[in-house]
Amino acid sequence: MSSGGPPDEEQTLTAAAVPDRTIEGFHAHIYYAPPTKPVAERIRLALALQFSVVLGRWHDVPVGPHGQAMYQVAFAPEEFARVVPWLMLHREGLSILVHPLTGDDYEDHATHSLWLGTPLPLRLEVLREHRASDG
Ligand code: ZN
Repeated sequence: MSSGGPPDEEQTLTAAAVPDRTIEGFHAHIYYAPPTKPVAERIRLALALQFSVVLGRWHDVPVGPHGQAMYQVAFAPEEFARVVPWLMLHREGLSILVHPLTGDDYEDHATHSLWLGTPLPLRLEVLREHRASDG
């Protein structure tokens, strides 16, 4: 009867195992096609008038990981709670990718992102290659 007694397992909380990431800002990518470009223009104008955002230029052809025409909207974390709910209600059928800026382009697009509307395929291999060559 040599019981070793109750196992002395510490129930340590594993919060330390969750990587501590800082979000420096957010991007919303507004996707459009030629027939929906006027919708994208309306959204762009409304964003510029109502929110503290930095609008990227129009990309009528796919660029980077984005498989469809789009423009980028950059905003600070403080603006998230205003911009994203507005986009939820006013996207008029367009697909929108919202992702944080943590310094890891690949993870920001592939893992940490959210979609409004129908998700679109991303060319994530572009970001992998970029990261590999970036070191
Ligand atoms: Zn982006």
